[in-house]
Amino acid sequence: MALDLQPLNLPGIDNRRPTVIAGPCSAETEAQVMTTATALHEAGYKIFRAGIWKPRTKPGGFEGNGITALPWLRRVHEELDMLTATEVATADHVRAALDYGVDILWIGARTAVDPFAVQSVADALRGEDIPVLVKNPVNPEIDLWQGALERVNLAGIKRLGAIHRGFSYYERNIYRNLPMWHIPVELKKREPGLPVFCDPSHIGGKRDLIAPLCQHAMDLGMDGLIVESHCDPDSAWSDAAQQVTPATLKSIVDQLDIVNLSDLG
Ligand code: PEP
Ligand code: MN
Repeated sequence: MALDLQPLNLPGIDNRRPTVIAGPCSAETEAQVMTTATALHEAGYKIFRAGIWKPRTKPGGFEGNGITALPWLRRVHEELDMLTATEVATADHVRAALDYGVDILWIGARTAVDPFAVQSVADALRGEDIPVLVKNPVNPEIDLWQGALERVNLAGIKRLGAIHRGFSYYERNIYRNLPMWHIPVELKKREPGLPVFCDPSHIGGKRDLIAPLCQHAMDLGMDGLIVESHCDPDSAWSDAAQQVTPATLKSIVDQLDIVNLSDLG
């Protein structure tokens, strides 16, 4: 089934590559959210990400602040005029995020593997006009990724995008999640109008890999980047090794070699 798509059409965002979504893995405290968002805003970024509900592999880790953190995202939107984005994994998450005016939602890699979970998120989105991004499922099955996108699309969401965050692999590797670039390339072939974002943070798992992964994604023609950025990465409550400061992010993005088709005349 071909997806029935409309452009993401994000207010204040032009269509030059890359569209950058940046912010911490998790919204930890109101001060951390506002400090990070202010620095990203000053660096010129316009879309702020932060996890509110964090899927953790093992119990006992930081599982997110839940709805307590939603007013912090609303402050980012109102005071800094940034768009906000967060992960939703259940229908309750969707309703809470919509109530607080979150601008963009994404479905995480652990949710995208489960058609029942994706369907319940899709059902909660029915009738809404909000951009939704779907991460690849943790296992390398393009049909499962495409199926998750279709479920959301069939619920009436046309402003849809995909996030490539790499795939679990059983052997040790330099990557936290194997990129398997051919999979997002194939997805783009199947759905040419679908914007694809690269998430170098969850592919690489460490700071040093962010720049080369961003460049590779741009070389493959991907549309955007979603990068974890924290005001004090070493003290992050989740995914500390892969987060970069807003200043580092700016220097990585500014050094990317990007050919925009519109520049070719
Ligand atoms: C995240 O974006 O912080 C996250 C949990 O990502 P993923 O679903 O790709 O593991
Ligand atoms: Mn993370």
